[in-house]
Amino acid sequence: MTTPNITFYERVEDALQDNQLYAALDLATTRLVTGRHNAFGALPEGDSLRDHARRLRAHTLANLDRYLAQFADSVERLGGHVHWAQTVDEANQYVADLARARGVKHVVKSKSMVSEELEINHVLEAQGVKVMETDLGEYIIQLANEKPSHIIAPVIHKSKEDVAKLFRAKINATDDDLIDVPKMTALARRTLSSDFLQADMGISGVNFAVAETGSICLVTNEGNGRLTTTTPRIHVALMGMERLVPTMEDLGVMLQILGRSATGQKLSVYTNIVTGARRTATNGAATGPEPDGPDEFHVVIIDNGRSKILGSELAEILYCIRCGACLNVCPVYKKIGGHAYGSVYPGPIGSVVTPGLHWIGPWSELPHASTLCGACQEVCPVRIDIPRMLLKLRDESARAGKGPAWLKRGLGLYRFAVLRPGLYRLGGRLSGWATRMLGKNGWVKKLPGPFSGWTDQRDFPVFAKKSFSQRWREERRN
Ligand code: SF4
Repeated sequence: MTTPNITFYERVEDALQDNQLYAALDLATTRLVTGRHNAFGALPEGDSLRDHARRLRAHTLANLDRYLAQFADSVERLGGHVHWAQTVDEANQYVADLARARGVKHVVKSKSMVSEELEINHVLEAQGVKVMETDLGEYIIQLANEKPSHIIAPVIHKSKEDVAKLFRAKINATDDDLIDVPKMTALARRTLSSDFLQADMGISGVNFAVAETGSICLVTNEGNGRLTTTTPRIHVALMGMERLVPTMEDLGVMLQILGRSATGQKLSVYTNIVTGARRTATNGAATGPEPDGPDEFHVVIIDNGRSKILGSELAEILYCIRCGACLNVCPVYKKIGGHAYGSVYPGPIGSVVTPGLHWIGPWSELPHASTLCGACQEVCPVRIDIPRMLLKLRDESARAGKGPAWLKRGLGLYRFAVLRPGLYRLGGRLSGWATRMLGKNGWVKKLPGPFSGWTDQRDFPVFAKKSFSQRWREERRN
């Protein structure tokens, strides 16, 4: 994954200046949060289902080697091909070689976060292959030459006016095409339909892979996943190695919580279960190849740092089913959006998974992009303890000597003062006196110098005349 060339704090500063971004995020996250709330509210067994799903994820990851082997055997038994990729480069090389060997000129792709990790589009385009994103949000992102800013709603940061402008500039949309969202969607559908028909290869992600049957499950709301996996002659599924469930019955459990957590739907509109390539039908008198489906089915199972996480204190993050619910409730994400994180995975999940997959070095600010309010853990369908892992990563980052200089100096001064009670008391008295001088009616409207950031967004309370320890001493005397 490429690392951004401006700092996290610079990106946050830019995002905070963008009122349109804030309005778009507020609208979309409020809708998603309400949808999730209503969906679980209407499901009395929601809590026990979440507990069950958590146990399933824990069991699967504790036995991952066994289930991966079972899945690979099942795929190969049906004539599919399995490739194990330790790194992003190995995965890209396999897909690029396959495309070259089969003379692939045109690829259609459905939404896949792991393909964003790989940046596979650039690799294929570099060898002259045309790659088209077919999820509407990803299509818009591709036209805008941007990256997704949300796990399930990649274009959450754009308004319909932004999209209309983009369609006019990039695909010659007319005024009539841009009257409303259904018209714009119809235009995108018309434009993409010829890509589906011309494509030689379809690339998909994998929401879940079923070990016992060798099936992959894809969840979409637009039907593009079905076309991507059935129209071209080659289907390549890119899969993070933790995406497994042991049985079809277990898949049923995960699907019940995924749709509800992600979009507030009981089930996404299209749930596709793909089990191998097209086969020869032998029912009754009619024999011959099935009427649809690819001739070849390849699954690329990608590690890219996951096995390192599995053996660490961050292992629980691999329970994640990529529903995006933690982003929608995070007070930091809702203010800055996904691009400010600079990583493929934004929000609370990204602040753990990105340093976990790679190295804390270039991502040391991400674990600090949280108020530790616990809302992410509260909504997570598999109850991942994200705050605990953020603290663990903050500790790792401090031990690695990372973090901004002002924070290190500030914490050094604080340590110096708290270890000297007299100095600490004097500091308390002076700051109390200063806030009373600056404040009016109990509030300071503008703090000076390095403290001014606090009052940019809100007022600061004037300190009480007596400190807690003074009052404590007086209470004990009486
Ligand atoms: S951490 Fe939990 S809430 Fe966040 S995306 Fe993953 S499963 Fe969803």
